Amino acid sequence: MAIRLYDSLTRELRELKPSQPDGVFRMYCCGPTVYAPAHIGNFRTFLVQDVLRRLLELEFGAGKVKHVRNLTDVDDRTIAQAKREKRPLTEITKKWTDKFHDDCRALNLLLPHVEPTATGHIAEQVAMINELLAKGLAYVTPNGSVYYKIAAFPGYGALSRIKERVLKATVTGADDDHKDDASDFALWKAYKPDEDGDVRWPGPRGAAEGRPGWHIECSAMSRKHLGDTIDLHAGGVDLLFPHHENEIAQSEGCTNHTFSRHWYHSEFLLVDGRKMSKSLGNLYTLADLKKIMGPTFNPIAVRFALMQGHPRKQLNFVTDSMFAAVEALSRLTTKYDVLKTWAKAPDSKPRSRSKPSDRFDGVIAALQNDLNFPEALGVLFEMGRQEERRDPAGDLLAFERAVRALGLKLRSSISLEDDHLAVDLVEVFSTPTEITALADKRWAARQAKDFATADALRKELAAAGWSMLDGKDGYKLEPLKK
Ligand code: AMP
Ligand code: ZN
Repeated sequence: MAIRLYDSLTRELRELKPSQPDGVFRMYCCGPTVYAPAHIGNFRTFLVQDVLRRLLELEFGAGKVKHVRNLTDVDDRTIAQAKREKRPLTEITKKWTDKFHDDCRALNLLLPHVEPTATGHIAEQVAMINELLAKGLAYVTPNGSVYYKIAAFPGYGALSRIKERVLKATVTGADDDHKDDASDFALWKAYKPDEDGDVRWPGPRGAAEGRPGWHIECSAMSRKHLGDTIDLHAGGVDLLFPHHENEIAQSEGCTNHTFSRHWYHSEFLLVDGRKMSKSLGNLYTLADLKKIMGPTFNPIAVRFALMQGHPRKQLNFVTDSMFAAVEALSRLTTKYDVLKTWAKAPDSKPRSRSKPSDRFDGVIAALQNDLNFPEALGVLFEMGRQEERRDPAGDLLAFERAVRALGLKLRSSISLEDDHLAVDLVEVFSTPTEITALADKRWAARQAKDFATADALRKELAAAGWSMLDGKDGYKLEPLKK
């Protein structure tokens, strides 16, 4: 069955398919702004994208999905934080990037294949702004900033369906840059010594030294790592306007190609009916929840609690849901134990010679249908009564596959002789970025019939502890047995 996902541009469920001849599905997700700890609202968004990636890998193959998620390491908020702490910008962003990675690991979020930083892509951003200037889609203001000229891009507003009148009303604040039109947005911000400290780079043609605007960062990083047209662009619902609308104007203004074939926005996590956010101060981080829950804390329970609602519906977070999640995970672990006990019975086929049964197909099907988390979890909890014991090894494999698609981790107390199978499968889903990069390179060499390079890369992979199994349309990575 195909994966169908709501598309915010066409406002309908549409099938996800790779569009390029190499069959790789290209996915760009707007990443965190690294100036403070990410809260569990942020993680709800990244978690939804994580399940989507797992599902895409199940559908198209592990080597056939390229997931790029950026780090916003220069913008108004990061610069303001560095100024508040009187520390260099890079020190602040490094600290919070490391913390973000720790939290991702705890929540079992797969690291993207590429995690570009905005500061690492200044040249690409300046080049894009230069293209927009050359095409008359941007202009330099008297103080040396650069603005996008919205009136010159007729498609503006297609994603958010925002009317010009409303658009103007949404733009507030001082216009000290002397824009042509109140709704034009910044591509490049001229350096302000009292605000920007030592954060500045040489600007685009005719502009002053300064730094990029937030929107151009994603356009440039997406283009660099995924090409002019991508298959999916995702983010939280607050990014739809103006961020994604502006990205479309920038990217399509430069390339004249469709920027993203599919747009996906997941909904907010709320606290007492209000969006969880740093500015409202109503946030919970993983560290906060650890304090609240004490020894019962389990980050996978946080993951489970965040999966309670449909991703396109707002979810109100209450700390009690954490305790309910711990309890639910324990029931699920019992189910895993039961399935393993059945698979251990002498009349059961060994797992290594079995295929997943169709028992938990409902989990995958629910996810494939617009990421219906509540339904998927419902199916996972069904079944487990003795009279339902039919194909124990196949059911166990099916259960493990469903659990992995949801990104949950269960610690069963029962061990099987071929338990490495389950571990292997988990590992395939969490292949380190550098290993996937090597495998991609080897696959490309093989496709180009450069077998010497392919062999050398296979040896490199083996030295790093990975074996690569070649299929007709793609490859599979497996950790070598220790
Ligand atoms: P930021 O670090 O503020 O750039 O946000 C990172 C991601 O978290 C973006 O995709 C936001 O849309 C998302 N986000 C921010 N607040 C929430 C929330 N309360 N619930 C869900 N997602 C959020
Ligand atoms: Zn973005």
